[in-house]
Amino acid sequence: MEIDLEIYSPVHQIKNTLFNEQGINVFIKRDDLIHPIISGNKWRKLKYLLKKAQAENKSHLVTFGGAYSNHLLATAAAAAKFGFKSTGIVRGEQVDNDTLFLCRLHGMELLFTDRESYRDKPALFNKYFADDVEAIFIDEGGASPEGAKGCSELIDELPRRYDHVFCACGTGTTAAGVINGLHQHGLSTLFHAVPVLKNGSFITDEIGKLLAHPVNFELHTGYHFGGYGKTDKPLIDFIKQFVAQTGILIEPVYTGKMLFAVYDLAAKGYFKPGENILAIHSGGIWGLLGMKDKF
Ligand SMILES: *Cc1c(COP(=O)(O)O)cnc(C)c1O
Repeated sequence: MEIDLEIYSPVHQIKNTLFNEQGINVFIKRDDLIHPIISGNKWRKLKYLLKKAQAENKSHLVTFGGAYSNHLLATAAAAAKFGFKSTGIVRGEQVDNDTLFLCRLHGMELLFTDRESYRDKPALFNKYFADDVEAIFIDEGGASPEGAKGCSELIDELPRRYDHVFCACGTGTTAAGVINGLHQHGLSTLFHAVPVLKNGSFITDEIGKLLAHPVNFELHTGYHFGGYGKTDKPLIDFIKQFVAQTGILIEPVYTGKMLFAVYDLAAKGYFKPGENILAIHSGGIWGLLGMKDKF
């Protein structure tokens, strides 16, 4: 079966008085609409990993994630759609939640592992699947050069030039792909990375490892809200207001933090009048399921 999805990811403009007063045009690339489950950057990151698996006759995807991992869920659904078997190795003690329910519903087998063993993923893969010639190792979050390649294709789809592009960063794979795409197209667009983890400056090296050419970009380390999966009232209030005003769902782990940064920078007069800004909606709205009690 050909491993491809027809990409539906339009660019929508967000209009409000803040952007109007600043004289800026803010747009959002709707990668959340690519697929209801295999959403956003997770599809882009999986595309060439799945093609590689197919080319190597590997029919069993083995990957890793936390109990609320968007990547586990995307891999489960992609495996089901394209005819692979899938195993998710889950960090921590055995639990059940909405994300893992959806993983299992898509046929993913789940193996729980303690946090200590989870650190050495290749060792875990060998422990369980050394004898399975059909099994292929896919890193946590789909972090890989293949993942970055898939993400670079986002730039091919853009309808116009932008002065700034913003993206939420976990592993930095998506950011690296987007930067490579901008470079391939000869665009001078300034890329802005918004790390969702604390002490996010490590992301510069992670992105650097996957860049085809050294390119400067902006790093905004002040929008982690306490770290990965952490939130506070201002972030939750921002998300509520954003969703109610735009009809576009976002969540607190990734896209909420990235868009908070765009709005906050705009309010501080960071952008010049007339500039065009693109925020990448990297999907992941199922992450909301693990955060209902925060709202
Ligand atoms: C996984 C994820 C990211 C992080 O992507 P990286 O390539 O790991 O930096 C960003 N946004 C959403 C919605 C995600 O699910």
